Amino acid sequence: MRLFANIQIQKAERNKGDDFLIIEANQKEKRSWVEISINQIIENYRIYKGQCVPGTEIMAVIKADAYGHGDVKVATALENEGVHLFAVSNIDEAVGLRKSGIKGEILILGYTSPTLADKLFEYDIIQTLVSEEYADELAKQNIKVKCQFAIDTGMNRIGLDSDNPDECDKIIRRYCRELSVNGIFTHLCVADTDTESCHRFTEQQISKFKAVVSRVRDLKLPYVHYCNSAGGLAYPDLSLEPKKKIVRLGIILYGLKPDYGNTLPDGIKPALTWKSTVSMVKELRKGETVGYGRTFKAENDMRVATVTTGYADGYNRLLSNKGFVMLNGKKASIIGRVCMDQFMVDVTDIPEVSMGSVAVLLGTDRDTSYTADDMAESIGTIGYEVVCDISNRVQRYYI
Ligand SMILES: *Cc1c(COP(=O)(O)O)cnc(C)c1O
Repeated sequence: MRLFANIQIQKAERNKGDDFLIIEANQKEKRSWVEISINQIIENYRIYKGQCVPGTEIMAVIKADAYGHGDVKVATALENEGVHLFAVSNIDEAVGLRKSGIKGEILILGYTSPTLADKLFEYDIIQTLVSEEYADELAKQNIKVKCQFAIDTGMNRIGLDSDNPDECDKIIRRYCRELSVNGIFTHLCVADTDTESCHRFTEQQISKFKAVVSRVRDLKLPYVHYCNSAGGLAYPDLSLEPKKKIVRLGIILYGLKPDYGNTLPDGIKPALTWKSTVSMVKELRKGETVGYGRTFKAENDMRVATVTTGYADGYNRLLSNKGFVMLNGKKASIIGRVCMDQFMVDVTDIPEVSMGSVAVLLGTDRDTSYTADDMAESIGTIGYEVVCDISNRVQRYYI
């Protein structure tokens, strides 16, 4: 029960009232916050859909609070736009969406304890069957939960082994009687990488999946899908005719790249801007050091500004002495280590910076831009992690 009580509190806070949505009025009262353009997310959805095979349906992947963008806000806007398929990672997320009025189908892509079968049923949620053993445990609850089988075609994460399609066929049929199975899906693991061997692997994954699909065709499962953001664009010609193609669209919805080597269709842009306030500016004399561990030493006299965001806000500590922020459209390099709630930047060449100035941590500031993908590249991770890491302490505002 605790599980569900938590959801309510979280959502209530997020929907506190209209003043929560007004951003410009009083920026100086804020410390660390993100501004999210719902219009840009809708635009990204429309552009992406326009690039897919006609008739493609989009399953909006809004796990992890819509990659940090706010799942209820994003899902509500997309539902108004005609989307009726959503995917999340767990039952808390799924129930949270239902309680906020989302009507579409909600698929949980990962594990849920089989003992929560009654909750899955009560909230009309589709559960992924991660294995035969899992399906068996869920079926033992004697509740006809809506389900989809994951099929493993080479990622070796979850799903029935597609190397044995006859066995998959048997298992799917068995649980069609005991549960309410309405689909099967697989997941591509190198669809974002443009090399000969990755293409070959992906095509192999798709053909293994099709071997299973063709065996269960007579079951007329309404949801058969294998594409993520990258797959939907890179493998547009391999649709499961005569089935309608479904793409599970995650990262590109938010305007980020599956892999920073990718090029996104024109007009698809990041929807999130992260900002933070300068709390003080000081002069530093040559030879002085900055921050924990004294990892930065001033080579000359300089001016330093303290920014009110830290790793507890999800600002990665690997950006120490490496990243930069934008102040008045100019780059200010991070000096010293990122602290829990603050970090320091060099503003020697940006004399107009003072207490209360607004630093852009992610986004576009005049002619300068620094996206979650850029940040990810500089610290050796992916844009997904950068946006998912922005903690709850950072307020979300919708513009
Ligand atoms: C997260 C996830 C997606 C979405 O992937 P993107 O690369 O963000 O588009 C799709 N399918 C499954 C099974 C996932 O776990």
